[in-house]
Amino acid sequence: MIFWLSVIFCFITFASSTPPDDPVKCESGNTICTVTNSYGAFPDRSICEAAKVEYPKTEAELVSVVAAATRAAQKMRAVTRYSHSIPKLVCTDGKDGILISTKFLNHVVRTDPEAKTLTVESGVTLRQLIEEAAKMDLALPYAPYWWGLTVGGMMGTGAHGSSLWGKGSSVHDYVTEIRMVSPGSVSEGYVKVRVLSETMNPEEFNAAKVSLGVLGVISQVTFELQPMFKRSLTYVMRSDSDFGDQAVTFGEEHEFADFLWLPSQGKVVYRIDDRVPLNTSGNGLFDFFPFRPQLSAALAVVRSIEESEEAFADVNNKCVRGEQISSFLFSIAYGVCNNGFLFTGYPVIGRQDRMMSSGACLDSHQDGLITACPWDPRINGEFFHQTTFSVPLTHVKEFINNIKALVKIEPKSLCVLEDSNGVLMRYVTSSPAFLGKEEKALDFDLTYYRSKDDPLTPRLYEDFIEEIEQMAIFKYNALPHWGKNRNIAFDGVIRKYKNANAFLKVKERFDPSGLFSTEWTDQILGLKGNVTIVKEGCALEGLCICSEDSHCAPTKGYLCRPGITVLMGCPYSIDKKLPAPRTPSEGCCTLVRTIGMKCVCEVITKGMEATIDMQKLVNVAAACGRPLAPGSQCGSYRVPGA
Ligand SMILES: Cc1cc2nc3c(=O)[nH]c(=O)nc-3n(C[C@H](O)[C@H](O)[C@H](O)COP(=O)(O)OP(=O)(O)OC[C@H]3O[C@@H](n4cnc5c(N)ncnc54)[C@H](O)[C@@H]3O)c2cc1C
Repeated sequence: MIFWLSVIFCFITFASSTPPDDPVKCESGNTICTVTNSYGAFPDRSICEAAKVEYPKTEAELVSVVAAATRAAQKMRAVTRYSHSIPKLVCTDGKDGILISTKFLNHVVRTDPEAKTLTVESGVTLRQLIEEAAKMDLALPYAPYWWGLTVGGMMGTGAHGSSLWGKGSSVHDYVTEIRMVSPGSVSEGYVKVRVLSETMNPEEFNAAKVSLGVLGVISQVTFELQPMFKRSLTYVMRSDSDFGDQAVTFGEEHEFADFLWLPSQGKVVYRIDDRVPLNTSGNGLFDFFPFRPQLSAALAVVRSIEESEEAFADVNNKCVRGEQISSFLFSIAYGVCNNGFLFTGYPVIGRQDRMMSSGACLDSHQDGLITACPWDPRINGEFFHQTTFSVPLTHVKEFINNIKALVKIEPKSLCVLEDSNGVLMRYVTSSPAFLGKEEKALDFDLTYYRSKDDPLTPRLYEDFIEEIEQMAIFKYNALPHWGKNRNIAFDGVIRKYKNANAFLKVKERFDPSGLFSTEWTDQILGLKGNVTIVKEGCALEGLCICSEDSHCAPTKGYLCRPGITVLMGCPYSIDKKLPAPRTPSEGCCTLVRTIGMKCVCEVITKGMEATIDMQKLVNVAAACGRPLAPGSQCGSYRVPGA
């Protein structure tokens, strides 16, 4: 049975699919436009507007677009063919901005097989990049798993694959030169083209490697490649009993290691994936099943099952489905085929260009939406939140054990992550890029149900996912992926980057009037305002942390409760047995401020009071700028001084 399933699913690679829609739509020609992302929804569900979209086809055209907009003091943002980022990175503020599309900046500029370099325009997709490199028998060593991303977009958000080896798994760390088109002064003709590299201008180069699009438009990028090699891949499913320890060491043992964790099933799928010589026999192909075209009708059925599970709180069905999905995907090796069309067993050995990334649903044969990418907003398919953060390797064991502790409290709670294939976990390393990763870390990718039309109804086990999200971001100082996540993951994010000031100085130099900056980029860069949006039900969409009942869904039984996270974030300040530090840590105060002491006090039980020094907790609240009113109640403790 499994054999035939594999045959069927390897063949499906050749099926056609309606390509994704253009994210930019205009009322007349290229003017009066709207822009969204590939899912059709930003975290706050708004649609962004722009006065017009420009489609430069050469660097010279790009230069004149930026010059004209600078001269007119118009806001600008680069937009890509698919616009994959979840947050509002692509939006210009208001209606008067200009979108500069890189859709037609998609050519190879130069190849140099001797030097093993490849120079491309920034709208080139990862798929093209991989193919062009392979024509010279060269390979990009590490990359995201989805090949629809563009070079400019990957550099915009620090996209990565999985590895602790070499310079790590982030694409921008294999870049040797960047050509950047930014606003210029009157004497420069309102535009400036800079050529950036490690040797010529390291500060500017390290800022441009992960730029969030605020430095200007990247025109061209040169990659340093490696001689083509093959990989040998085996997936193994094991119990997660020793996962905390394994997660710390596995990445040193295998070059392309990653994990799919199924916490409610108590299982982990280990990806044992290593480089082997090019003459090793094998013609494997990784065509990841969830990235293949899917029948829209089938997706609609699955979606309606999901919706009914949510409506009837049918967690049992969710868990059963999660198990079925994970064992099905494991049985077909996630879409890996030994010879391009058949999975016959492990190891699967294939060239790097055939094994590293995939995305068959992008293939453009219009079929009237009979098939599509599963998340295509034009069909009734997948719609989800994605929370993605890198936890420093030094905290990974503790973090995993904390998640396991949550599963112990409610064993079925994390089934909500398993019907989206489980938690994908990938290795990243520290990068010289100012807004790149700060240290060796494990990146956790959590995908979970989002309601299409009812954002004010709580999801199944919403509080458990929020607990994990807040624990990672605030307690373990995890870095959110710039191109994924809901707003709260970016709360205070810039303080986590030691080179943030160096980045901001380059930004000031490249774009002193902030024409490429927006409300969102100012918020995440800590320049103006805050990423959180406080309104009724805001916590349900990750726009705020629930610090009052109205932020949750009080009429639907979801109250202000996640204050327990604060206690996990402040152990050294409130533990009865430990000497309290003179001032609470920044992480502890961030939690106190965002969650609110009212919530904290509401969740404290007698059991907790046995280990918490309540006077210390009162002191922490005051030191963090959220003092408790004298005479008020915190758990069973009465705050002194009334
Ligand atoms: C199915 C899917 C799979 C994914 N898999 C991975 C993965 O394996 N690993 C990973 O790390 N991420 C992954 N992502 C997320 C992805 O890395 C980011 O969202 C990525 O930035 C999107 O690339 P894009 O080309 O669509 O860029 P966009 O989302 O369109 O743009 C991202 C940012 O870059 C800026 N930008 C784009 N081009 C330029 C340019 N030429 N000059 C200056 N600024 C520019 C934009 O203004 C914007 O700020 C995935 C996303 C999806 C939808």
